[in-house]
Amino acid sequence: MDNIEEGDYVEVITDKGTFKGVLLPKPKFSKDEIVIIKLENGYNVGLIPKEVRLIKKKDKKIKAEKAVKLEYSPDIPTISIIGTGGTIASYIDYSTGAVHPALTAEDFLFTMPEISDEANIQSEILFNTLSENMKPEMWIKLARAVKKAAEKSDGIVIPHGTDTMSYTASALSFMFEKLSVPVVLVGSQRSSDRPSSDAYINLHSSVRVAKTDIGEVVVVMHAGSSDDKCYIHRGTRVRKMHTSRRDAFHSVNSKPLGEIALDGNIKFFKEYKKTDESTELRDKMDERVALLYYYPGMPIEIFEGVLEKMHGAIIMGTGLGHVSSEFVNSVKGMVKDGKIIGMTSQCIYGSVNMNVYSTGRELKYAGVIELGDMLPEVAYVKLMWLLGNYNFEEAKNMLKKNIRGEMEDRRFLL
Ligand code: ASP
Repeated sequence: MDNIEEGDYVEVITDKGTFKGVLLPKPKFSKDEIVIIKLENGYNVGLIPKEVRLIKKKDKKIKAEKAVKLEYSPDIPTISIIGTGGTIASYIDYSTGAVHPALTAEDFLFTMPEISDEANIQSEILFNTLSENMKPEMWIKLARAVKKAAEKSDGIVIPHGTDTMSYTASALSFMFEKLSVPVVLVGSQRSSDRPSSDAYINLHSSVRVAKTDIGEVVVVMHAGSSDDKCYIHRGTRVRKMHTSRRDAFHSVNSKPLGEIALDGNIKFFKEYKKTDESTELRDKMDERVALLYYYPGMPIEIFEGVLEKMHGAIIMGTGLGHVSSEFVNSVKGMVKDGKIIGMTSQCIYGSVNMNVYSTGRELKYAGVIELGDMLPEVAYVKLMWLLGNYNFEEAKNMLKKNIRGEMEDRRFLL
């Protein structure tokens, strides 16, 4: 291995077979000697020296070494990475098998050095948590970090756990009335140590999307079962629809904004808002809002108990937007008391329509606001944001209007 350096393209002959790729530097946290090769398909393989029979240097060179040194280039855009945690932000110590959080820009680039040819990377680790631990106060902290980062970069990438990424995407979508740079959330379903990991393609694509002129909050995730593209989803339309598949994220009741191929080519399917001159943030959230899943047999005391201390609630009703007709009087009283109650559907796909069945009509007369094809989680985040930043009447009116692409039901767009 004498004159072989990190960043060289090498061929490694081992007992397990022959591997060709770029020799990556040993991570700082790894105690043992380990040979890590970035294969041409983007995946990494870690080999212990006793398995390695021969390493041959090939002609082609890739600048892994430069990447990890993070030289600033004035000719390429600057992208800020704001880490929040989740599977995407962890990577493997091949010597121990342990998974480590990425803490610095170097850590992020360690497994994908070619990103540094496309952008100067600045990074900040805001949280290091699994996204099931996210809370509205963390969305607010994140929004403030985004605002700051927008002043010194051309685009922002937010690695995030996939479980609640769509809630965070919605919260940021509503909080930013204007954005001077793209804000791209990205996650991965499988960590970077697994051969089928989506971390590499998702992160690489998200950096490229952060270099566009999209003035919206978007989510970039794997698009299908092969490794050829990612979708760009609007932050208020996206939902995790599968527990483990790499293409778990779908735009619901809408096409994705676009797709980005492995070579970086972007195709848009919908119009998007372009970046503004400035970034404007309204970052208050009223946490006294509930998201309630109605089920047959739900006792009315549960319904009333949950809503008692709340300023508002979003119901995930059955079908076109129903709860038991026994609840109608109770709902009427709550609306009279000044609570805002919105109706979405647990069907997820399709629109609520409360004019079809008598229960729907009664609930509507009782004051429930029907929310078209808005996703329940999006409506929940939206109502928190509206009650945090506007007065009661304004909040009520804005809840049923499309303000960030969250509702495309024609009945409400007139
Ligand atoms: N539970 C994890 C999270 O949402 C899963 C992931 O990272 O994708 O943070």
